Amino acid sequence: MNGKMKGAVLPGNSTVEIREFDIPTPGHGQVLIKTMASTICGSDIRCIFIEHTGTGAEGYIDGMIAGHEPCGVIVEEGVGLKRFKAGDRVLVYHISGCGMCYDCRRGYAVSCMSEHRQAYSWQRNGGMAPYILAEEKDLIALPDSLSYNDGAQVACGFGTTYEALEKIGVSGNDAVLVVGLGPVGLAALMLAKAMGAEKLIGV
Ligand SMILES: [Zn+2]
Ligand SMILES: [Zn+2]
Repeated sequence: MNGKMKGAVLPGNSTVEIREFDIPTPGHGQVLIKTMASTICGSDIRCIFIEHTGTGAEGYIDGMIAGHEPCGVIVEEGVGLKRFKAGDRVLVYHISGCGMCYDCRRGYAVSCMSEHRQAYSWQRNGGMAPYILAEEKDLIALPDSLSYNDGAQVACGFGTTYEALEKIGVSGNDAVLVVGLGPVGLAALMLAKAMGAEKLIGV
């Protein structure tokens, strides 16, 4: 797909700039996704929007399209795909790990220390644009029962807190107290309820 698109960039002075980009072409193992939803994360505000305070894994490369919580539908396939095809509804896990290190192989790309690790919207373009180029290995299938807006929120917020609840092992034996009712805190309560906890307290 040739052509241009507009993408939102965060220059770091509490403003958003709309810049023009080429619509990317997927290479080997990659897909082009038509973005249907892309939510804003607390880390976007904390590390990019106001000023660029992040370093290392949180280091924002100036000019990257923002938005690491995208969800959409595959519109173009690169070669060598193994799991997904055009027309599939997907969300993008926000960290693209090297895929080879110990942490990546056990599913913890967030802990990948490789120089090849890239976070969408930080070290490679993210979802605040009509299209996003993503690695097939970073995709998660979006069930028909979930909307694109649901998928965008699951991408980072719900996933973050689900990991924590799994480690704790929440069940019907537990009462759950969540301090801080932002999107992740609210997600924690919804998930804890689904995991069986009957007494839920939010502060
Ligand atoms: Zn996030
Ligand atoms: Zn890795």
